[in-house]
Amino acid sequence: MRLKLVLRLGVALVLAPLLATATVAAQPGPAAHARSIVLFIGDGMGLGQVSAASELLYGGQGSLFLESAPVIGLVRTFAADNMVTDSAAAATAMATGTRTDRRRVGLEPDGRPLHSIFEAARKGGMATGFVTTSGLVGATPAGYLAHAESRYDFASILRQMLTSKVDVLIGGDFTGYPRAAHDPAYRELLAGAEQLAAAGTTVVRSAAALATARTPVVALLPPRPTMPEQHGPPLEVTTRRALELLSSHPGGFLLVVECEVTDEMGHDNNADGVAKGVAELDQAVRLAVHMARARGNVLVLVTADHDTGGLAVVDRPLPNGKATVAWATTNHTALWVPLFAFGPGAGGFSGVLDDTELPGRMASLLGLQLPN
Ligand SMILES: [Zn+2]
Repeated sequence: MRLKLVLRLGVALVLAPLLATATVAAQPGPAAHARSIVLFIGDGMGLGQVSAASELLYGGQGSLFLESAPVIGLVRTFAADNMVTDSAAAATAMATGTRTDRRRVGLEPDGRPLHSIFEAARKGGMATGFVTTSGLVGATPAGYLAHAESRYDFASILRQMLTSKVDVLIGGDFTGYPRAAHDPAYRELLAGAEQLAAAGTTVVRSAAALATARTPVVALLPPRPTMPEQHGPPLEVTTRRALELLSSHPGGFLLVVECEVTDEMGHDNNADGVAKGVAELDQAVRLAVHMARARGNVLVLVTADHDTGGLAVVDRPLPNGKATVAWATTNHTALWVPLFAFGPGAGGFSGVLDDTELPGRMASLLGLQLPN
């Protein structure tokens, strides 16, 4: 009961400055037409995570790059079978515009396959890419790029990833994630990924090899030494590489970048870990926005698939006291998540929207048809 009250207060406190910023600074982006989109997804990165991270990282003496966004929206997240969604149903919603049951990726509740904005982008002559610190077969990339009854059908999802012909796929090999590491079918396919990949696709297994690889490329990176469920170098490094590889494409590009740290640390109720995850994402966003501004026709969006933990700052004596936080749960919540937009077309992402509205708005900006 007390936590509920604390949460309500926390949300009100978080919303007030966000909405004020939106009112003051919601001017449309530059007049240029968006030909490419970079969509960042902080897994589990709800409003509470962003505001607590800003407080824990800067203590009022500075701010996240995210906070400079000229346009801000709020996103409602829910699955077909529950108000509290998971990364599988949420990614499916954000990729296809259709709500499905938790655990499902790329399928309607009745099992019919859904078309993703990635398919539409490829058909429209655009280059495509996905970057994640999670496993490449994790629920978020799977929701965009695969079809499976269960997000845990790692072997089927890996097979679909390797033959997807997406230009740039960068994620982890998931060998530090017990559920995948102990799945013999997945381990076998992982070991033979080079043979299974579509003709012409390069499979790399280190950041060094990724640095010189050409497209199409699939990077299956090893776990981070101190965080075995996260993979590869900092997101800023992999995002830069993906943008280098995609940005020469004449038809524009669609790149989705996921930071999984915020979800893992949210489940652990580790506020400092959440702050590190938000900071990692924030640095990658800063890089992408700077690269996008240099090109002039790239929209950068930042949102979350759902909130994890219901984190709130509940005390911080001013001016120099230490922040105390409270958590509502070790699971996901139905708290709205923020959306930050930078660049051409950003104005189309203000207000309160459902997660299922995202791909339609992105597609219409790019002149694509989402057939679902
Ligand atoms: Zn989670």
